[in-house]
Amino acid sequence: MNNSDLAPAVRPDKHEYATLDNDSWAVHGGNRPDPTTGAIRTPIVMANSYQLPHDPTDLDDTDPDTLVYTRESGANQLGLQAKLAAIEHGEAAAVFATGMAALHAAFFTLLNPGDHAIVSDVVYGRVFGLFGTLLPAKLGIDVDFVDITDLDAARAAVRDNTRLIHTEAIANPDLRVADIAALAHIAHTSGARLTVDSTFTPPPMLRPLDHGADLVIHSLTKYINGHGDAMGGAVIGNRDLIDEIKTGAMHHIGGAITPFNAWLIMRGSVTLPLRLQRHCDNALAIATFLAQDPRIAYVAYPGLPGDPQHARAAAQLNGGYGGVVSFAIAGNHEDRVRFVNDLRLITSAVSLGHDETLIAYEQYPEARAAAFAAQFREHGLIRLAVGLESAHDLIADLDAALTTVYGPPATSR
Ligand SMILES: *Cc1c(COP(=O)(O)O)cnc(C)c1O
Repeated sequence: MNNSDLAPAVRPDKHEYATLDNDSWAVHGGNRPDPTTGAIRTPIVMANSYQLPHDPTDLDDTDPDTLVYTRESGANQLGLQAKLAAIEHGEAAAVFATGMAALHAAFFTLLNPGDHAIVSDVVYGRVFGLFGTLLPAKLGIDVDFVDITDLDAARAAVRDNTRLIHTEAIANPDLRVADIAALAHIAHTSGARLTVDSTFTPPPMLRPLDHGADLVIHSLTKYINGHGDAMGGAVIGNRDLIDEIKTGAMHHIGGAITPFNAWLIMRGSVTLPLRLQRHCDNALAIATFLAQDPRIAYVAYPGLPGDPQHARAAAQLNGGYGGVVSFAIAGNHEDRVRFVNDLRLITSAVSLGHDETLIAYEQYPEARAAAFAAQFREHGLIRLAVGLESAHDLIADLDAALTTVYGPPATSR
């Protein structure tokens, strides 16, 4: 067997994938029958190394996908990369051990000491930590956090040394929505690049590269794997930039995904379009229930017609508005803790995009909550990561726990 034998049978050809329906690419993308056994699914290749050429000095490792050593490339990683590149309409992808490793790899590659970055003031907590503390302290990066929904503010934050704008398509946790084409325009007229964390909006919901983003990043841990049993991350974009990320950040820093997790994520992603539809339908039903319930102080969900993010979301998203609903309940802290613990079907845990519905109640520190709606600052934020159960059962679970703590809707405070 040589390296070319391990190339995926369904090649990550943008043109070819563009002609396939979502359900077809989800099933076939990146999979390659095993040339040794004839097995029709790519097996898990748990090897640290691949055989060198007859004359080891003949090795041409200018291609970062050459199979030599599993920190740098492997059969399962290649298949997953091929699929992810194709479904995001990118030329190439790099997969990592976690979403954070993927995000760090992108920032490490794009930024140099003295550069300036504009970052959405609502982002995943560890990204907030990277830009708030670590990248300025360790690499001398200047950072401005801005309200990414305010394009004038984003434009005003640009400096001569701005090299990066980073945002989430739908932000964790307050669900604000970025206008990707407008931000790409601001970045590209300023000599900067736009990176979009699209973890909440995997394909076919959104393809940020089609809207002008330079790199799209995913926590594969969430919807793309979808089963809550493997962590991973990916960066997708044009081949030159992805090769730079591989030869720099992946090879030298080494946040490699294991072949087993790459295989699990490949398998989980087979049902991505089907699962996403259910996540979105369930989330809309639950958000609609919460929005009409007098016991709930505030609901954020971009799919609700009255939500301040709705127009921007509707203009960019296909098939739904995501599986996360964030809400606030008035009353005291102990009541909210009781509510979360009274749920029977819904599990109190972080993460999202799992098959099962997860709920996380959090009082965010002022530095992170400053940009949130007043109700989230006052009452904390409850993030509901809606799963694949029946919407009827989920609503009944929420209603029952609300009733235990706050009484039935009519008599609530
Ligand atoms: C979970 C998450 C991450 C981090 O991904 P890990 O796989 O947990 O490292 C990054 N961005 C967003 C939006 C997330 O929800």
